Amino acid sequence: MSLFPIEPRLLLGPGPSPVSARILEALSRPTVGHLDSQFLAIMDDVNARLRRMYGTNNALTFPVSGTGSAAQEAAMANMLEPGDTVIVGVNGAFGSRLAEMGRRIGATVVPVEAEWGRIVEPERVIAAHKTNPGARVVALVHAETSTGVSQPLTEVGAHLAGTETLFLVDAVTSLGGMPVDVDANHIDVCYSGTQKCLGVPPGLAPLTFSPRAVERIRTRTQPCQSWYLDAALLADYVGEGATRKYHHTAPINMMYALHEGLVIAEEEGLAARFARHKSVGDSLQTGLVERGWTLFAQEGHRLSQLTSAALPGGQPEAPVRAALLRDYAIEVGGGLGPAAGKVWRVGLMGAGATQDSVDQLLSAVDVLLA
Ligand SMILES: *Cc1c(COP(=O)(O)O)cnc(C)c1O
Repeated sequence: MSLFPIEPRLLLGPGPSPVSARILEALSRPTVGHLDSQFLAIMDDVNARLRRMYGTNNALTFPVSGTGSAAQEAAMANMLEPGDTVIVGVNGAFGSRLAEMGRRIGATVVPVEAEWGRIVEPERVIAAHKTNPGARVVALVHAETSTGVSQPLTEVGAHLAGTETLFLVDAVTSLGGMPVDVDANHIDVCYSGTQKCLGVPPGLAPLTFSPRAVERIRTRTQPCQSWYLDAALLADYVGEGATRKYHHTAPINMMYALHEGLVIAEEEGLAARFARHKSVGDSLQTGLVERGWTLFAQEGHRLSQLTSAALPGGQPEAPVRAALLRDYAIEVGGGLGPAAGKVWRVGLMGAGATQDSVDQLLSAVDVLLA
């Protein structure tokens, strides 16, 4: 075999998260055809498990071929047409991307902005909708990985449920690490990625559409601008009772890996998995504050799976982060936007969400900052 040497890392950044041996082994199983009944059975089971993870009965639930950004683009492109209005919560990098995608589609984007590190107040989103009642979509980021903020969804979902406007949610960093509750929150379109709290390598991106969203796809006046991500075409292959018509070749081995990741999650139990993410996140945040770090995200709305924190005394973060990787083989992320140069973004996601990860990181920090 011709293999480059790869030094293992402890992946405690904003993604990808550590991949367990069981999932790596699943990746190495024999590749079969995308119409092989063995493969179709695995895909159907993945879709059923994704429904449970998402908390939805949505029939049209499947992994998009690509990373989280592909599902993000699919969600926006399938709901919007040129001239539609989309209201977007913008309080970090991923909300900004949603707005940019909306503009590229030719939609009118109504941003509801908040300072990076703070939630977008639900009342302000609801007020923007009352000013723009004809908006096609309201889009929010559940777990803003660029800041560590956990966005409340319930009030906005309940408000939109009685209207014609669809609720679109980015759950890339929440799915697998905290409840998303798609149906209870009245979410119409929700997307995620494999490489964050699901603990699977980057390459697939779970997407789900409510019956209302499917109706929207059916009644578009123009076809989805993206052929590759057109859910109407994809449904002929992935959907229940679909004709299994060839659209593109599914990433076969990645589907094995995602299946294994979802089996592992259900073996642990979803409630136990969410509780584990919460308790190790709390432990890290307590440990950092004890050491003089300042948590960046708004109190009461902090994610457990992604902690953003400024180093003690406002010292520059990059040299310490470089030493952490060089001397301890631990990867964390640097800050983005207004937090660039000052904060670390530490992910405790999937298999990385353990007390051992917290202990290793804090003891390395104690030496590096001594
Ligand atoms: C990581 C991330 C994405 C993009 O996913 P990729 O897998 O990097 O393409 C989108 N939204 C959020 C909130 C993310 O954290």
